[in-house]
Amino acid sequence: MIALRDVGKTFTLHTQGGVSIRALEGVSLRVSPGECVALTGPSGAGKSTLMRMIWGNYRLDEGEITVAGVALHRARPREIVALRRDRMGHVSQFLRVVPRVPARDVVAEPLRALGCDIGEARDRAEAMLARLNLPRRLWDLSPTTFSGGEQQRVNIARGLVHPFPVLLLDEPTASLDGANREGVMGLIDEARRRGAAILGIFHDEGARARVCTREVALHLPRGLTA
Ligand code: ADP
Repeated sequence: MIALRDVGKTFTLHTQGGVSIRALEGVSLRVSPGECVALTGPSGAGKSTLMRMIWGNYRLDEGEITVAGVALHRARPREIVALRRDRMGHVSQFLRVVPRVPARDVVAEPLRALGCDIGEARDRAEAMLARLNLPRRLWDLSPTTFSGGEQQRVNIARGLVHPFPVLLLDEPTASLDGANREGVMGLIDEARRRGAAILGIFHDEGARARVCTREVALHLPRGLTA
């Protein structure tokens, strides 16, 4: 479902004298339906960069990435947009909050993009927010003023509200307390059991042990040490 072959990435800092930073080198991995794979490795090993490349935010300059049948190394922007809309959910570390849009509609938005009618989309969004213990009094408010943990739960609800076959999770439990972390892990586990292919960064060892079926370690590119 997610397949990477010999992926490499070098950043060129044009504003700093054209310095090159080698972020990834020769990464190959595969995530099948029903697997939850944790990306591990030291800080700077390229975990976030790899996730952004799979999400289609960073261009792929070496190797191949195929996600749910779409070859990202030769996909046009509109194919990437369609892939995100139809097949790939993403929980980033931080919610990008749009002012004045209530939490309920932030969560319902991926369903609306898939053609779901507004009533059903809002019902499903509310069910998700309730499951994640977001107080009902917050549902009508924009998440702009929410705490880190509340924003994180809105983000997770949005990423998991549709049964996407592919999920990318960047530290989904980072700002959550024990009970809420347990709730999120339950949802991730459910998604995996229904057959989602999940790739994530989980710094919390307990979360990793609880939801991941396998780990893939990234190493610092040659010539770099931590
Ligand atoms: P990790 O998530 O494993 O800590 P990152 O993917 O954030 O690692 O970073 C890998 C390397 O790429 C680091 O050396 C980092 O400085 C560099 N890097 C990441 N993003 C950018 C960027 N947008 N521009 C330039 N360098 C970057």
